Amino acid sequence: MLTVNSELDFESAGEIALEYNFDPEPEEKEDVIGKLLEDIEDAEETLVARPPVVCVMGHVDHGKTSLLDAIRHTNVTDREAGGITQHIGAYMVKLKDRQITFLDTPGHEAFTAMRMRGANSTDIAILVVAADDGVKPQTVEAINHAKAAGVELVVAINKIDKPGADVNRVKQELTEYGLVAEDWGGSTICVPVSAKSKEGIEDLLEMVLLTADVQELRANPNRQARGVVIEAQLDKGRGAVATVLIQKGTLHVGDFIAAGSAYGKVRAMMDDKGNRVKEAGPSTPVEILGLNGVPMAGEVCVSPKTDREAREFAETFIKESREKMIEDTKLRMSLEDLYSQIQRGNLKELNIIIKADVAGSVEAVKQSLLKLSNEEVVVKCIHEAAGAINESDVILASASNAVIIGFNVKPDAVAKETAERENVDIRLYSVIYDVIADVKRAMKGMLDPIYEEKVLGHAEIRQIFKASGVGNIAGSYVLDGVIQRGCKVRISREGTQIYEGELASLKRFKDDVKEVRSGFECGLVFEKFNDIQELDIMEAYTMVEVPR
Ligand code: GDP
Repeated sequence: MLTVNSELDFESAGEIALEYNFDPEPEEKEDVIGKLLEDIEDAEETLVARPPVVCVMGHVDHGKTSLLDAIRHTNVTDREAGGITQHIGAYMVKLKDRQITFLDTPGHEAFTAMRMRGANSTDIAILVVAADDGVKPQTVEAINHAKAAGVELVVAINKIDKPGADVNRVKQELTEYGLVAEDWGGSTICVPVSAKSKEGIEDLLEMVLLTADVQELRANPNRQARGVVIEAQLDKGRGAVATVLIQKGTLHVGDFIAAGSAYGKVRAMMDDKGNRVKEAGPSTPVEILGLNGVPMAGEVCVSPKTDREAREFAETFIKESREKMIEDTKLRMSLEDLYSQIQRGNLKELNIIIKADVAGSVEAVKQSLLKLSNEEVVVKCIHEAAGAINESDVILASASNAVIIGFNVKPDAVAKETAERENVDIRLYSVIYDVIADVKRAMKGMLDPIYEEKVLGHAEIRQIFKASGVGNIAGSYVLDGVIQRGCKVRISREGTQIYEGELASLKRFKDDVKEVRSGFECGLVFEKFNDIQELDIMEAYTMVEVPR
């Protein structure tokens, strides 16, 4: 029975439509935002070298802020020294004749936000590890975030001025996470530094440039600009102010721009030193005035040719509402749809995050799961740690489309909430075998739903009738609940179960019925079971699917 407010699925609606001689087709949902953000590929010969864009990550108190300050100050000429009060969320430093752009929002939240639209803004991440403290949980998180984003790491072993500093211990600890220092035969650049004494800062910058050389970072400066919003706010005197990191092309004063829901014409631009500039090329952060609203950090910023295009960009963006967009641009992963994604060729890797109560279990779960990789899909562990599932795990899972496996641990309240909002699949287990079995089945597309038994009711057998061709019919009285056609039954005699099987027929008088409620009599026939006696008790139950 449906009401006017009921929703029909496409199939039922289609059948009705057919009766009226219409042949409906399902609406094809167009990826409007995806189209909006489409970009032309620049020809090889138009590309020129651009400065690397660098962010700083690491455990709390290991010196991220101090290091960013130190880098900034070693580089400030006397003339500028008084003037650097400007904070625009990013700045450029010069080493010899080359430039490096730093995003000065430490922490990986910013880092993940910037990957939201697939516009990866960072080329290199400096991982700060305090030499007197070593690798800590957030260090590991940072490593995994960088790996998941495919960002190159340069390790800054900080606080080498401190008495307890032990650079080798840090290197040793890093090897556990696949980062082997160069002087130990690996490929990870580790630079001992002190943000306090400024020792090693120049070495660090040189190493960043070296890494950038290997990456051959290039962009076409002679085209319409495109970049990503790093920060934005409403300024009382100046209106909407946004810091944009230009990634391609060159932005000029007077150009039309659109970033997320905001658009306008560049009225003025300021560089990181607070100087007014007329244009900004690839890898340059600039503060822009002229937008009609405040865009979100992480939004892509484009420079259309006309005012109309800019306005349409913003309008389309608003229409498609932010939430929906995030859903569309991020393909959420859950074990249930793993198989169909593999089939469609969407997925070659199953990213997992493992959290367990003790380090030993983490390793055990990890090793068993990695072994499940086959030709079709590779199981990849992007982060693992002992401890409860926290928000950072969920953010990482969300950014890298991973499933979280919890072994004898639970998500904390914030993590739970975030997971629900971000649609991240968290699976909790307490038996290793179950973890393996689930992932295995998911990979084969055979993740069975979980069923739970639900008792429907009980009946007492009061009289036996013999019927030729049918066998014994149990004339029964429903004691409680309800007996339903086709349900499963258990029969017990004086407390001992004598049969378990299916109800073959359910009758009231001569008629087949769907169900018989408590207080009524009925006739029961059991599937392949005749050996009933008066006063046997029948329990009726059914299996219901429970959500995982
Ligand atoms: P963040 O939380 O990673 O941003 O760390 P901070 O930059 O706030 O630094 C945490 C503490 O470590 C502060 O008290 C700093 O003064 C101190 N610190 C940072 N770098 C160094 C260093 O190279 N040597 C010494 N001795 N202390 C440092």
